[in-house]
Amino acid sequence: MVNNILFDCQLLQNVPSPLCGHELPLSRSRGYKAKCLSCGSFWDLDTFTAGPNYDASYPILRSHYNPKVGENKVKTLQSWLKKLGINLSTLTVCEVGFGGGHCLKFLMEISGNVFGIETIAENIEHARSLGLEMDRLFFAHALPSELPSRIDLWLFQDSFEHLADPAAFFDWLSKNSSEQAQLLIVLPEAGSISERLLGRFWPHKLNDHRFHWSRKGLIGFLSVRKFNVSTFFRPVKYISLATIVAHIMQKMVTPKGLSEWIERAHSFDLRFHFNIGEMGILLRKNR
Ligand SMILES: [Zn+2]
Repeated sequence: MVNNILFDCQLLQNVPSPLCGHELPLSRSRGYKAKCLSCGSFWDLDTFTAGPNYDASYPILRSHYNPKVGENKVKTLQSWLKKLGINLSTLTVCEVGFGGGHCLKFLMEISGNVFGIETIAENIEHARSLGLEMDRLFFAHALPSELPSRIDLWLFQDSFEHLADPAAFFDWLSKNSSEQAQLLIVLPEAGSISERLLGRFWPHKLNDHRFHWSRKGLIGFLSVRKFNVSTFFRPVKYISLATIVAHIMQKMVTPKGLSEWIERAHSFDLRFHFNIGEMGILLRKNR
């Protein structure tokens, strides 16, 4: 074991420190993981040569603007809010990484106040086309030091794992949180049964998921920032056949071929209700 770790440390000397914040050396696992020995979170080394491409093609290849996809995302979010007993009518909400903006539009209708943060300019334009005002929308790389209002609920729907520098982002988030702020986070779980069983075939092993968080790593990272777990939940999703095809085809074909497959899948209005290896956590700020 010790020899393996020493050998792996030599191999991994150019890998950055894990985002979970642990200082221990990383261990190579299954050929593609640079794993934190303290919490089990890991870098996917395969993504270091084929990283994410957050441009206009990103939402198109994932059908983020498709109304059926948006309808499923809203229905899914509604089911989680109901399960968690969260009433947004008087709360100020901020969705981090709102993608196509369908959920942001829904949140605007049911919340006291709403803001959204995005990396992709075309996603901001799409949210505007859905009726969101520009003063509610912010570019991730040009955030103001203070939002117009303190946030009561931060929503991360499959976006937390995309944060390149979560420590810096949470410094900013903490300054913009209300006294009773909560975090609602859904993301793939390193160390889940499906992740361990499926390995390279895990559906969440994608080029835009460079760092995979374990439950222990995520809780530790957030507790240092004074957010403690309120509830764990199983984040079951409503997912269309087209979304499933898009996930599978991202691993198998070129973007051009991918677009053709997704278009074919959208002709079938099938909807599934499941979860593969994702965790849902609601956290509350310490007072
Ligand atoms: Zn760790």
